[in-house]
Amino acid sequence: MKRVRCLVLNAALGPLDYRVPDGMDVEPGSVVECPLGPRTVTGIVWEAERLPGTDVPAEKLRPLRDALPVPPLGAPLRRLIEWTADYYVASMAGVARMALSSGGALKGPATMTEYRLTGGMPERLTPQRLAAMEALEGEQANIRELAGIAGVSEGVLRGLVNHGVLEPVEVDCDRPYDPARPDFAKVDLSPQQAEASAVFSAAVRAGKFAPFLLDGVTGSGKTETYFEPVADALKMGRQVLVLLPEIALTENFLSRFEDRFGTAPVLWHSSLKSTERRRAWRAVANGSAQVVVGARSALFLPFARLGLIVVDEAHEVSFKQEDGVRYNARDVAVMRANFEKVPVILASATPALESLQMAESGIYRKIDLPSRFGGATLPSIETIDLTEEKPGAGQWLATRLVEGIEERLARGEQSLLFLNRRGYAPLTLCRNCGFRFQCPNCSAWLVEHRFTRRLACHHCGHETAQPETCPDCGEPDCLVACGPGVERIADEVAERLPQARVFVATSDTLNSPVKAAEFIAAVETGQIDVIVGTQLVTKGFHFPDLTLVGVVDADLGLEGGDLRAGERTYQQVAQVAGRAGRGSKPGEVLIQTRHPEATVIAALAAGDRDAFYDAETEARRHAGAPPFGRWAAIIISSEDDGEAREAANRIGGFRPHVDNCVILGPAPAPMALLRGRYRYRFLVNARRSVQLQDVIRHWLGQVDHPAGVRVAVDIDPYSFV
Ligand code: ADP
Ligand code: ZN
Repeated sequence: MKRVRCLVLNAALGPLDYRVPDGMDVEPGSVVECPLGPRTVTGIVWEAERLPGTDVPAEKLRPLRDALPVPPLGAPLRRLIEWTADYYVASMAGVARMALSSGGALKGPATMTEYRLTGGMPERLTPQRLAAMEALEGEQANIRELAGIAGVSEGVLRGLVNHGVLEPVEVDCDRPYDPARPDFAKVDLSPQQAEASAVFSAAVRAGKFAPFLLDGVTGSGKTETYFEPVADALKMGRQVLVLLPEIALTENFLSRFEDRFGTAPVLWHSSLKSTERRRAWRAVANGSAQVVVGARSALFLPFARLGLIVVDEAHEVSFKQEDGVRYNARDVAVMRANFEKVPVILASATPALESLQMAESGIYRKIDLPSRFGGATLPSIETIDLTEEKPGAGQWLATRLVEGIEERLARGEQSLLFLNRRGYAPLTLCRNCGFRFQCPNCSAWLVEHRFTRRLACHHCGHETAQPETCPDCGEPDCLVACGPGVERIADEVAERLPQARVFVATSDTLNSPVKAAEFIAAVETGQIDVIVGTQLVTKGFHFPDLTLVGVVDADLGLEGGDLRAGERTYQQVAQVAGRAGRGSKPGEVLIQTRHPEATVIAALAAGDRDAFYDAETEARRHAGAPPFGRWAAIIISSEDDGEAREAANRIGGFRPHVDNCVILGPAPAPMALLRGRYRYRFLVNARRSVQLQDVIRHWLGQVDHPAGVRVAVDIDPYSFV
């Protein structure tokens, strides 16, 4: 009799042993259906020696129900799942679920019905039908998607099916993607770029683990440079994974990829339709998806023949997942490359201090691109001291900045104003009684959105209409907006420069690939003079006529004073500054601040990156912060405040006493209420010599909680709320 140990996708259960029925063929990595009481759960066959479990006697074992028709997860991915669970103090089931992220894909080959125009005419041609037929020219999709495209009800389309205007087509769900062509449109690299890409290409051909930090200034052509090793991997029949921090950036990337390789890459992100998901997942697993471009979750896809991983904008905080398994995709990417024995390229103009430190200690190889491509120069940077050059009452822009925009208008050039705050104003209060609009579910003010005339919480999505009177004292016309958001800055520009065409670029306005593409086209064709945007516009975009960047409030990110505030400010301002002067016209950057003397601001103004990193390195060393020491946060939450506090205190009672490890808390978290849950927090700071994860696992393992309490461990946290 053959028995196997399975990792089942249920975090509450340990590994379970099963009998393999006669005629079923399984090996480590096989995805199987396991009986569990009256139910069935999905499981993965695992090496028993790597997954401690209880040895159930053979006669008590239940037989596996089924082996699913997908290739077994490879050993490198299994090692990655183990490592991620271990390092981030997460359940292996939780991590494994990210690898089996398409339920449909596990069921095997399938077909689906789609519809397309036949060329026929309905007996009665209503305007609605005519419009639908025009919109559906060349389209093929299911009825629901077609209804979306045509902007009509599904009923209208079913009518067209009955009239023979639309016909059903059976489609293979797993139809292959168009092949990418490594030599489709090769570009001539600059000598600097060629040297860098030759190093990467050699590593791809060597097929060994090799971590690189591609440290290139904004506009140096990092993308062109890593496209060459991508081409080499393709020629070797290997797959490539490119991680991007934000879906909003993919539009730009996709068109560049298509220009270079003749076809679009395979996309992977959370808002894929389930049919696209299953198609991508199966193509990744059978090796036919050549290049996958995705958000962090793509990291756990079951690649059959991975040859290279690229993490673009590797410093980005959005690579850190903040719920479920709290992992940092940048670091997990390096581990995956390690297990797969392939090179990994972390590309950035403003690398994280941790990455630079890894390069310094010789673990990563650092490859520099110190100048912009095509002779473009880096922009000149100046600060505007807001304590001296005060904007007028109710204004946020200094005269010098407005004059700068005016000059650009006169020359037909473009300007970008950066403020990392969506909406019109971050706080609304009553002038009469002092009432402030607060979110009922979060410790946060409601943000006014004037376009939609609503007050919204940016943490939980709670929204209300903006009332006419104060809800507390009932006074009319007494509500005032405090502080600026991007919408308010746009208003100010429109008021002071009425001739300017202003566009607000945030996740509210660029919330779909179509809108992002429209925005890019509008800027490229000169239909926009001034972009007012959040961090969404700080990276990736390349607008040759954009010559002025204004940072509205450089102090904003420093206010909270968390561990990474300085670094984040440096990165954001340097990235947005990098949007200026990317073409033949030189760029200028004006940074508004009340603290021009602060290390990070002074370093930005002087263009002296090393000065900033040196100071930051010393500060971190002194504080025992990463990369010199380790941090972890433990958040205890419940919908009931008393229950959360009690659980936190109980955990506090078991606090371990370990040398070189300081545990602070429990204390109410800075966001003491978030999405309806009350939160208490421990912060752990340890020397690198401490086995931090073991300490935490052992500590938390001693304490039980009521069902309503959640305990989340965040290793190497980025968010300190
Ligand atoms: P980065 O990502 O380093 O900021 P990009 O990769 O966006 O820079 O490159 C900046 C611009 O220069 C892009 O428009 C890109 O197409 C162009 N470019 C870079 N290298 C080359 C090259 N070798 N040949 C042609 N165009 C290039
Ligand atoms: Zn809220």
